[in-house]
Amino acid sequence: MQKIYDVIIVGAGPAGVTAGIYAKRANLDLLLLEKQYVIGGLLNFTSEIENYPGFSKIEGFKLSQKFEEHLKALDVPLKVGVEVIKIVKDNNIFKVNTSQETYFSKSVIYGAGWSFVKLGIDGEDKFLGRGVSYCAVCDAPFYKGKIVAVIGRGEIAIEEALYLTRFASKVYLFLLNKKMKLPPHLEKELENTKNLEIILGANVEKIDGKLFVEKLIYTKDKEKKELKVDGVFIFAGLKPNIEPVKELVETTKAGFIITDENMQTKTPLLFAVGDIRQKVLRQIVTACSDGAIAAQAAYKFLRQIKSS
Ligand SMILES: Cc1cc2nc3c(=O)[nH]c(=O)nc-3n(C[C@H](O)[C@H](O)[C@H](O)COP(=O)(O)OP(=O)(O)OC[C@H]3O[C@@H](n4cnc5c(N)ncnc54)[C@H](O)[C@@H]3O)c2cc1C
Repeated sequence: MQKIYDVIIVGAGPAGVTAGIYAKRANLDLLLLEKQYVIGGLLNFTSEIENYPGFSKIEGFKLSQKFEEHLKALDVPLKVGVEVIKIVKDNNIFKVNTSQETYFSKSVIYGAGWSFVKLGIDGEDKFLGRGVSYCAVCDAPFYKGKIVAVIGRGEIAIEEALYLTRFASKVYLFLLNKKMKLPPHLEKELENTKNLEIILGANVEKIDGKLFVEKLIYTKDKEKKELKVDGVFIFAGLKPNIEPVKELVETTKAGFIITDENMQTKTPLLFAVGDIRQKVLRQIVTACSDGAIAAQAAYKFLRQIKSS
């Protein structure tokens, strides 16, 4: 007979790890699946974290290690190197197909996060976490008084560039849009922001440096140019990792999963947590909060079903 777990948690980022901790403490029979061989998700791409309570400054991979120690201390069953390919629901049981075997459960907490839309610029991968960032809220304070470039498209790139002007001495915004109509409030703010310079119609070819980012190489009007920068922020969009559940959930236009306040999706007992969910702030604390709420809701709903 096939084993049926109470809950299978997909993704061992901050959301999935917290769901694991709460599910275990609620005495649920659970399994946590992570496709990478390390846990922590995006924490492993973060140089330093200064906004997670309890740690005034901690490197991302060190916080991941703390999460892992916590899972081990509670004996949370974890399988790494297992990618969830597809989840289907049949007769109130979830069938979780993975790169290795198929697992079954009464509920699923899905916290697979999102991937950056990369621009494919030479040096983009090499300097990730060493001057290249995809998160202004997270990394802007490290660029106090420094020179940064923002490369991206749309209002999000402008908003992020404006945010960075509060920290950096100078922000160069390489706007990739061919044409763009700005909302009046942004137009006015751009006009009033003296340390922001917009560069249109450029082709950024290379992010360069030794150990850390030092310069950008780009062409504009057929002329090759070099710009000295300390950091490069890229905002080309987000790609939520929804493939395995896309038939079971409702999403926003951008692909983020819509849930209710219990983190439940349109499929009963399928919860979505963390950055993959439609929400206003994508951070570690909010991911952890989602994980806690979902695990608690799974426990409550499964208990209600059992006693009905
Ligand atoms: C460069 C950078 C710096 C940041 N700095 C900060 C900061 O200073 N402070 C802060 O609060 N927030 C910061 N953030 C945001 C924070 O990292 C995220 O909000 C948080 O990690 C979201 O957690 P999550 O668990 O939802 O997703 P993730 O961290 O993305 O974890 C998702 C996990 O799911 C796994 N997964 C994906 N698909 C599958 C699958 N099919 N099968 C199995 N596993 C799968 C992934 O491998 C990953 O481990 C930063 C983000 C970035 C990119």
